[in-house]
Amino acid sequence: MTDTPTQLFIGGAWLDAADGATMPVDDPATGEILCHIADAGPKDARLAEEAAVQAQEEWARTAPRARSEILRRAYEIILDRTDELAHLMTAEMGKPLAEARGEVAYAAEFFRWFSEEAVRIDGGAGILPDGRNRMLLSRRPVGPCLLITPWNFPLAMGTRKIGPAIAAGCTMILKPAPQTPLSSLALAAILKEAGLPDGVLNVVTTSRAGEVCEPLLRGGRMRKLSFTGSTAVGRLLLAQSAEAVVRTSMELGGNAPFIVFEDADLDKAVDGAMLAKMRNMGEACTAANRFFVHHSVAEEFGRRLAERMGGLVVGPGTRDGVDVGPLIDRTGRGKVEALVADAVERGARVLVGGRTPEGPGCFYPPTVLTDVSPESRLLDTEIFGPVAAILTFDDEDEVVRRANDTPWGLVGYVFTEGLDRALRVSERLEVGMVGLNTGLVSNPAAPFGGVKQSGLGREGGRVGIDEFLEYQYLAVPVG
Ligand code: NAP
Repeated sequence: MTDTPTQLFIGGAWLDAADGATMPVDDPATGEILCHIADAGPKDARLAEEAAVQAQEEWARTAPRARSEILRRAYEIILDRTDELAHLMTAEMGKPLAEARGEVAYAAEFFRWFSEEAVRIDGGAGILPDGRNRMLLSRRPVGPCLLITPWNFPLAMGTRKIGPAIAAGCTMILKPAPQTPLSSLALAAILKEAGLPDGVLNVVTTSRAGEVCEPLLRGGRMRKLSFTGSTAVGRLLLAQSAEAVVRTSMELGGNAPFIVFEDADLDKAVDGAMLAKMRNMGEACTAANRFFVHHSVAEEFGRRLAERMGGLVVGPGTRDGVDVGPLIDRTGRGKVEALVADAVERGARVLVGGRTPEGPGCFYPPTVLTDVSPESRLLDTEIFGPVAAILTFDDEDEVVRRANDTPWGLVGYVFTEGLDRALRVSERLEVGMVGLNTGLVSNPAAPFGGVKQSGLGREGGRVGIDEFLEYQYLAVPVG
């Protein structure tokens, strides 16, 4: 903690907020304050904007290979410092150290992936159909970007945006979530060490997100918004971006269905459920939110899932052997408690968990609910906690209709041993991603994103860099 930066990172320099404001960063496992960091206001935002705008032209002209090598060096530094970064992440966010180490590797991989993509930005050339003109197509960086990230994957949500922005030749301002700013500040220090020129990345930590971001979006000098967070905030930022016609990529909330058919391999289904539900303590946009289980296997599935969930060890993420850390804060835990209470009031049975432990820290136990009534609020709200809600179904058409009956469409999980059914149901689900007999879809080499109100655009994969590039077409007469 002692070496972790706590100031704003603007134009390559570490600065206090112009008005001297600071804000605390808490440890969700103890409720204690870890440290105080700079709390930026609108003046700091303008400074960061100026730095990003000034750096843009020269940065866009740098050789793709140079951008690639900065990312590659940063990838290696991140991996070398896995332990340090994992401890920092666990301290500010709560996830168990083993998961934090996994996130460091996942986060670093976005830099390796986009270091490889930086040198593969292509264009095109050809004769137009009338034969009179040539067409020369080039791809250029979209310009300075505003990147806004949530607290649940403090490092990976940053690298998933910063990686393609650097590869494409964009400058940027990163505004991390106020609960988990330290991982982003550590990342900025690593990129500086890896040779990133001043002003290309600016990090603005703030408790005044609206005051800092709205002028940047409405002002029009930032040409791109890449946002990961809730659908409610995404909608607001889309409206703000409309004024200056800022390009947007939106990675928003989910309400993932997890479907277990009668012909599923229940070992695979329970393993998949543990991953899809319990990764990150259930605080993931990809978390299975609604378990639809065929009535003929529902009891067996519920029993096995409850056994596995009940065997998990809850405690501070730094302690050996802990599987489930605290939730992010008291508000997050209060929401989970209220959703479980509502489901129970409406008739749900608690197979395991469901009781908030005494003592400090924002802990909540792994919980399995069955006989969940269709009116329960947790079926149309992201639970964002370690709670599995099981519903039953009778046939394929019915479960597809119920799975799609939501404004969200990020990811779905399908468990069946029948190939025809697996493909048919996957194709009928209104989602951007499907886990077929697996509970994990996230991978830097795959396009991540949703349909409907889960977002616009994709991150990662071959298409991830496209979000940060524009086409320019040159018409040249054939001589
Ligand atoms: P959130 O409340 O929407 O906040 C996300 C980020 O937006 C934070 O940095 C937040 O800062 C900022 N923000 C909020 N209001 C703002 C405003 N008016 N102007 C500018 N920035 C603003 O979401 P969260 O609770 O941090 O994260 C959980 C959500 O993220 C869930 O819905 C989850 O599904 C979603 N998520 C989606 C993906 C995906 O890839 N689809 C991945 C991870 C998470 P403040 O907290 O200071 O307001």
